[in-house]
Amino acid sequence: METLTEPIAPPIDAAAIETPVAQRVMDLEKQHILQTYARYPVVLQRGKGCYLWDVEGKRYLDLLSGIGVNALGHSHPRIVRVIREQAGKLIHCSNLYYHEYQGKLAQKLSAMSGLPRTFFCNSGTEAIEGALKIAKAHGNKVSPEKNEIIALENSFHGRSIGALAITGQAKYRNDFEPLLPNVRFIPRHDIDALVESVTDRTAGIVLELIQGEGGIYPIGEKMTRVARELADRHNAMLLFDEIQCGVGRPGTYFSYQLSEPAVMPDVMVAAKPLGAGLPIGVIMTNERAAASLGAGMHGSTFGGGALATRVAHECCLMLEELMPNIRQAGAYFRTELAAMTHKFPFIKEVRGHGLMIGVDIDFPCKHFVTDALADGLLINVTHDTVVRMLPPYIINEREVDRAIRGLRNVFKRAARNYTKPAGL
Ligand SMILES: *Cc1c(COP(=O)(O)O)cnc(C)c1O
Repeated sequence: METLTEPIAPPIDAAAIETPVAQRVMDLEKQHILQTYARYPVVLQRGKGCYLWDVEGKRYLDLLSGIGVNALGHSHPRIVRVIREQAGKLIHCSNLYYHEYQGKLAQKLSAMSGLPRTFFCNSGTEAIEGALKIAKAHGNKVSPEKNEIIALENSFHGRSIGALAITGQAKYRNDFEPLLPNVRFIPRHDIDALVESVTDRTAGIVLELIQGEGGIYPIGEKMTRVARELADRHNAMLLFDEIQCGVGRPGTYFSYQLSEPAVMPDVMVAAKPLGAGLPIGVIMTNERAAASLGAGMHGSTFGGGALATRVAHECCLMLEELMPNIRQAGAYFRTELAAMTHKFPFIKEVRGHGLMIGVDIDFPCKHFVTDALADGLLINVTHDTVVRMLPPYIINEREVDRAIRGLRNVFKRAARNYTKPAGL
């Protein structure tokens, strides 16, 4: 009987047998995926803690965490348990109804940030877009002329038209001009330019407090304080983009808390590490900013789903325990990197806070990424010359040592072809 229902074996695909799995995955994508990403030729299959394995079984130490997303590493047992449990109960029900986890997560985030109100969305870009709407709505309530946004050169805020309009890097914007009008960019360290630019026509000032895509550049506390004063004087909203540099990454919950007393924003957006790998973004506001958006003025179908918010809540519960490790492992990593500057004169500077680390190299070094891959390390190079590392918050000293050994190999190979430019 059974043999009758058995499916007929598909014809043997000779090509499939001869082609390695990784190649087949890459070929299939080449045919069907918009070619917007220049991917590295690695097909990842599974992860555990700070390590990932590709389809051929090769192991990599993950120093990038999916660009700051996998903050708890891979397959963290607490996260896996919560996902399993919640997926079996309720994944999504829409914002037409209540579920248990939005309020709980917002309460937790509020305790972490000092900002009482939250709106949930699904990505960083979407959060920035919502924050811009708050600034615009606030401006419109005061006067039709109050519609300018001040942003910083070298910033990155995302890929939608609004987010691009305030992103201070031409390479992301050029193909899509004209974008939104009334945006002014000022150099990230130029306090005088900031003072000159902010007027009664300013609706919002947007600061990415540690520029991530821009090469791990912390914006000085002075700049931030002046922005706060100007926003108050001219009744503008102060917006912080903590999408990459927030939610524990700098060794504090948010990077505005690195200075004491903290310079408080009116609106703050976060995303990347918040969902331990699930897509979730948040806009957090004080009461003044919250008042700009009334019922029906903003929304999101997927935003604040039960699964995403429950997992993010679990992630936030774990953050407090992880905070000492973020600080210690981060400090240790940066000290070990700084120690290498004596040996490798092309390392200009080691920058960052907590586990957001940039190593500034004095030549374009994109090839370091493939070089490190061969050594079993996942790193990234941003702004052409900055090796960027955003390791999981659970990274330990042994893993940092492994990272340093791998990076030393990468730097050693680079040193063979390096002649120090005159005048350095
Ligand atoms: C990644 C990033 C964004 C965009 O977030 P997406 O989730 O990719 O939309 C915006 N701002 C900063 C600072 C980022 O690092």
